[in-house]
Amino acid sequence: MPIFFLSSFFSYCMHRLIQKINDCLAVPLQIIHYYLIKSHKEAAKYEKKVMVLDFVAPTPLGNSWGLGGTCVNVGCIPKKLMHQAALLGQALQDSRKFGWQFTEEVEHNWMTMTESVQNYIGSLNWGYRVALREKNVTYENAYGEFVGPHTVKATNKRGVEKLYTAERFLIATGERPRYLDIPGDKEYCISSDDLFSLPYCPGKTLVVGASYVALECAGFLAGLGLDVTIMVRSILLRGFDQDIANKIGEYMEEHGINFIREFVPIKVEQIEEGTPGRLKVIAKSTKGNQIIEGEYNTVLLAIGRDACTRKIGLDKVGVKINEKTGKIPVNDEEQTNVPYIYAVGDILEDKLELTPVAIQAGRLLVQRLYAGATSKCDYVNVPTTVFTPLEYGACGYSEEAAVEKFGEENIEVYHSHFWPLEWTVPSRDNNKCYAKIICNIQDNERVIGFHVLGPNAGEVTQGFAAAIKCGMTKEQLDSTIGIHPVCAEVCIRSHLIAQLS
Ligand code: NAP
Repeated sequence: MPIFFLSSFFSYCMHRLIQKINDCLAVPLQIIHYYLIKSHKEAAKYEKKVMVLDFVAPTPLGNSWGLGGTCVNVGCIPKKLMHQAALLGQALQDSRKFGWQFTEEVEHNWMTMTESVQNYIGSLNWGYRVALREKNVTYENAYGEFVGPHTVKATNKRGVEKLYTAERFLIATGERPRYLDIPGDKEYCISSDDLFSLPYCPGKTLVVGASYVALECAGFLAGLGLDVTIMVRSILLRGFDQDIANKIGEYMEEHGINFIREFVPIKVEQIEEGTPGRLKVIAKSTKGNQIIEGEYNTVLLAIGRDACTRKIGLDKVGVKINEKTGKIPVNDEEQTNVPYIYAVGDILEDKLELTPVAIQAGRLLVQRLYAGATSKCDYVNVPTTVFTPLEYGACGYSEEAAVEKFGEENIEVYHSHFWPLEWTVPSRDNNKCYAKIICNIQDNERVIGFHVLGPNAGEVTQGFAAAIKCGMTKEQLDSTIGIHPVCAEVCIRSHLIAQLS
C-alpha cells in the first residue's frame, strides 16, 4: 500500500520529508515538501510507494502559487529577501559615512524586487518537482479529502476526482491567513499570501495585527521607504519576551513607523480603484466607543492564521480536532487519535509554528515508522528569529514565562545594551541593541532563555541554541572566549550584568 501526504499549503519542509518517505515507505497522504534525501539503497530496502497531494486554494484576490507551501512561496523565503532589500537601503545610507559617494537619488523599484524574488521562488518550485520525480514520489496537484477509512479523494483544478487508498497518511496542510469578517475586508484588503507577489508598489500601507507577520512586513515596507502604520489591538508580539517586544516597537517608531494602539478596524471602503487604489479604514477603540478614520493605498491583514483542517474530511475518518482552533492534537509521536493518520507542522495543537520544527518532526516520524529509529521531536528550546528592522533572536523562555514557571526568586536575568561597531561610524542607533540571558538559579544557573536584539540576530542565536540544547550554564558561558569585535560577544564573559530587581 502507498503512503499519502496531504498538503494544500504546508511549508517547504514537506518536500524533503516526501523524499525521505519515498526512501522508506509505501503509501499516499496529502502534503510534504522538504527533507533529507536518503540513499537509494534504503529506498530499495523499504520499497515504499509515496504520493503527495498538494493544492493551493487561491486567495480572495485570486493569487496562488507552486509547490513548496507557505514558507517557500508566501512566508519565510520572500519575507527574508524583502527584509534584505530594506537592510540594503539602510546600508546605502550608512555607506556615505564610509566614503561612498553617489550623486543620483537612490530609489527603490518594487517591481524589480518582486520579480527577482518570484524568479527565485520559481526555481525552488521547480527544484522540488524534480526532486520528487527523482525519488519516484507520485505528485498530484489536487485537493485531498478523506472520504472513508484509508481512502482519500483527490480533486484537481478541473474538478476531476480520483480515489486513492493508503496504509498510512500524513497531514501537513498548514494554515492560511485569517480575515477580520468586517465589511470590505475580503474585497479590498490583502494578506501575506498576496503581498510578496503584488504586481504594484503598495504605497501608503496600514498593517493590521502586531505579531511576527505584521511587524516583519511593516518593517520591510517602511525600510523600502513607504509610509506605514500598524494598528495594534493589544500588545506587540504576544508570547515573546515583552521587554524585547517593546524595544522592537520603540525602534520601529523611531524609524518612522506609525502605531495606532488599541484600535481594531470595523469597516474598509474603497475610495478609488487603482494599483494601488485608495481605501478608507474605519476603526474602533478597544477601550471605548471612539471611532477613527484613515486613508491608505493598501490594507494588509496580519491577524493570525487558521489551520486548514476543517475541509479535508477528518470527520469522515474520526480524527479529532480542537473545535475552537481547528488544531489537531497528537501524541509525542505525531500520531492523531486515528492510529494510521499522522500530522506535522502548523496544524498541531500546542506546538510551534515554525518550518524547521515541522521538518524535524517529519524526518524523525519517518525514521521511526520505517527505519526502526526511536528518537522523538524535541519541541523545547527551539530557536527562532523575528526579522523586524532590528532583528530579534530568541531561544527558550521569555522572562515572563520563566518567572511563571520557576518563580521570580529562582531566576537570574543578565542583560546589556550594546552598539554594533558597524553602526558607530554612521552614528546610528546607539544602545538600541540588547541581549538578555535568563538563568535558573536552582539548576546551577543553567541558561533557560536567550534573547538578542541586533544585526544578524538569527545567525547569533543559532549557535547559542546548540549550546543551550547541550545544557549550558552561566559559568560555561562566562568561560567562553569572545570573538572581537562582533555583536555576539556581548552574550559572553562579563559583558552581561545582573538585572536589578
Ligand atoms: P499570530 O501570532 O496569531 O498573531 C496575530 C496578531 O493579530 C496578534 O497581534 C493579534 O492581537 C492580532 N489580531 C488578531 N485578531 C485581530 C483582530 N480581529 N483585529 C486586530 N488584530 C487582531 O499570527 P501571525 O503573526 O500571523 O503568525 C502566525 C504564525 O506564523 C506564528 O505563530 C508564527 O509562529 C509563525 N511565523 C513565524 C515567523 C518566523 O519564524 N520568523 C514569521 C512569521 C510567522 P492580540 O495580541 O491582541 O491577540
